[in-house]
Amino acid sequence: MSPMPDWKQWKDKAWSTVNQATQGLEHQVIIAQLRADVAKARAQLDQAFEELGRLVYAEWHETELVNRNDSQFSEALVQINQAEAALAQAERKVDEAMRPSAVRCAECGADLPADARYCPRCGRPVVPVG
Ligand SMILES: [Zn+2]
Repeated sequence: MSPMPDWKQWKDKAWSTVNQATQGLEHQVIIAQLRADVAKARAQLDQAFEELGRLVYAEWHETELVNRNDSQFSEALVQINQAEAALAQAERKVDEAMRPSAVRCAECGADLPADARYCPRCGRPVVPVG
């Protein structure tokens, strides 16, 4: 005779799957937002380089150098430095978000306090990851 199915366990398992899926989705949304930041920073960098290129081109074409304007060059260089820094920061954030969390419950996916020994949501003992 087969045992009665454990409905409570089945339900808990189903809920834990749903919770995990939801958390995964939120994570995907965060990564998508961070990737949009990277794209924006990259576009700003491109724009800054374009501006510098335009100035260099104008300078190179200027036979008499009457309209030479060094402050425009330094401004373009400042823009490039800022855009490069913003891009590096945006890319670093994506890297961090992509890294799997070491303090996440293997059973239900809940974020765990660094010193947790048991998952506060599902009660599973925490196995330290790498
Ligand atoms: Zn858990």
